[in-house]
Amino acid sequence: MSLFTRKRSESVASLGETALITDIRRWLGSAAPESPHGMGDDCAQLPISFEQQLITVDPVVYGRHFDDEIAPRHVGAKLLKRNLSDIAAMGGQPTAAVIALTLDPLTKLAWLEAFYRGLAACARKYQVKIVGGDIAQAHNHFSASLTLLGRAITKRVLTRQGARIGDSLYVTGRLGGSLNSGHHYRFKPRLDEGAWLAQQHEVLAMMDLSDGLGKDLRSITPDDARAQLDQNALPLNKGCDVRAALSDGEDYELLFAVSGRTKHETFLSKWRQQFPRVTLSRIGELVSAHEVKDSSLNLECYFGYEHLR
Ligand SMILES: [Mg+2]
Repeated sequence: MSLFTRKRSESVASLGETALITDIRRWLGSAAPESPHGMGDDCAQLPISFEQQLITVDPVVYGRHFDDEIAPRHVGAKLLKRNLSDIAAMGGQPTAAVIALTLDPLTKLAWLEAFYRGLAACARKYQVKIVGGDIAQAHNHFSASLTLLGRAITKRVLTRQGARIGDSLYVTGRLGGSLNSGHHYRFKPRLDEGAWLAQQHEVLAMMDLSDGLGKDLRSITPDDARAQLDQNALPLNKGCDVRAALSDGEDYELLFAVSGRTKHETFLSKWRQQFPRVTLSRIGELVSAHEVKDSSLNLECYFGYEHLR
């Protein structure tokens, strides 16, 4: 479905902001609680929790994260799932979200309804409450930015820091080809896996893969270390080569470091008991910067997606 229309009667402009907000609340249905705990006031009130609070924000931008080929309900779900993947990467549980929309008045109403209904279905599935939002007008543009709150369900929150020389590197699932396969909007955020991994003391650092392993690896690798990857161990999606696995991006899998003292077989069998249907691969290890073997994969060739370049 195309996002914009030339007919005013089919567009957001036929409603105006106040009526549009009423419709948005209807489309969101049970995913959007009443004020004061949801939409309808200047702020939503949320209870204080004694757990660590997590917060993240990610947008979907027309022409960048989706186009007219992708059904609007998938775009709505993708907006939430990109953020869920970030909460998963810290081992957390999502709670509530707010959405800032920027749109052209000639945005098609039917498109927007399907977008919100897709978002609401996804929010119900993952028990996220949509508690507020804002709408701004723009010319020839559509983007939606979602801020997601979550809570840490373990005492320890896993971050990108904490990996050391000697640790093993693991990824969940398979990598590459996300754009062509539709994985970039069909993926299932690894919330269960992330929450379980955060409870395993041998897991020392974790992040989700959004820009491509080649780039994202650098965020989890300490300054004095290098990631030495085993090409043959990379879990490639069908039709993908090593370059695709490293640089396509939008894999939304988890990358994490496991203490070098942990035996691979032991960790793998624990994993398989929990997640028998999710592939887990040990893709390499962290070595000291001057100890990299010539035969290991040279990551400098594979940058992944670098924003603003
Ligand atoms: Mg992330």
